[in-house]
Amino acid sequence: MNEKHSLPKSGRLFEIRFESIKGLGAQSASQILATAAVRRLNMNCVHFSSSTSEENGSVVRSFVRLSDVEKPIKDGTPIEPPDLIVVFHRSLFDHPATIAGMRAGGTLIYNSPDIEPHPALSLLPHDARIIRIDATGIARVEESKPEAVMLGVLSAVFPFLNGNSLLMSLIDEFGPENRKTAAACDGAYWRGAEEFKVLEDVAQGIDDLPLLRFGAVWGFDMAMVYGSLPKPGDAALSNNFSSQTGSMPVLKKEICLHCGLCDLICPNLCLVWSSNINGSVILNGIDYRFCQGCLRCVETCPTGAMSGVTIDDCKASVAHSAN
Ligand code: SF4
Ligand code: SF4
Repeated sequence: MNEKHSLPKSGRLFEIRFESIKGLGAQSASQILATAAVRRLNMNCVHFSSSTSEENGSVVRSFVRLSDVEKPIKDGTPIEPPDLIVVFHRSLFDHPATIAGMRAGGTLIYNSPDIEPHPALSLLPHDARIIRIDATGIARVEESKPEAVMLGVLSAVFPFLNGNSLLMSLIDEFGPENRKTAAACDGAYWRGAEEFKVLEDVAQGIDDLPLLRFGAVWGFDMAMVYGSLPKPGDAALSNNFSSQTGSMPVLKKEICLHCGLCDLICPNLCLVWSSNINGSVILNGIDYRFCQGCLRCVETCPTGAMSGVTIDDCKASVAHSAN
């Protein structure tokens, strides 16, 4: 029998909402947390995600409900007023749904480098804890994944989650037989547990934030002809740069052979092509809304036309070429 771990408010559910962009690892983080809760911490847990089949770059939400083992969980609905919100990309604060329903006294953990807090954070209840961690930056240095860092923060902020239990489930997920991967997870996880920063005097709200519910926009009666969608995809305001690795590819057109090898390997069909007047197919660039920063195109390119750079350098390069 596993050791019993009690939730902070015994007898009540502890509810967590992960807000992310698909490809950043929130789904695997919530899955690892749920597995650790049931298998290692002797808790009850319900876990599900808003979608598992959307294209990388689209918004995804995962939900985890925990309870003491004596208390069955009968609620399988999305979590609207959470105790904890975990945000994997700061651009998500541009949308009010990300922090909607935040409870007074709740906790928000978000992934961001050390820059000015997003203005939306001032709306949070004044007694909410706001915690920042540069999960992408740490994961890049440790050659691990942002979810390893974010889980490390969770374990430190909520001791009932028991750091070693969470870490063991993390390593199980990414292959305990691979020592290099396990060591990278270990390093990223403990850096997350130690390097997070609590932001004081940012939250200015008075009470719980209201829920955000939208009426039906599309349905059988309103669907367009043939069910076509005028705005396909749901990439978060087309401003994602949702790199799993902290790096993104950039293309040097002048040394590209237009051979198509990068296109063969890209999992998300990010590469944009056109034909020139001779009928040859040429590579125009990368559609960053759907790029997950896996850098397979960089590894595959025979000429070095694709190279991996930091997200900020990538943004600068895109801005430069747009001018
Ligand atoms: S693999 Fe390299 S050279 Fe070939 S099309 Fe892609 S970027 Fe160009
Ligand atoms: S890094 Fe390259 S291969 Fe990976 S998703 Fe982006 S464009 Fe595709």
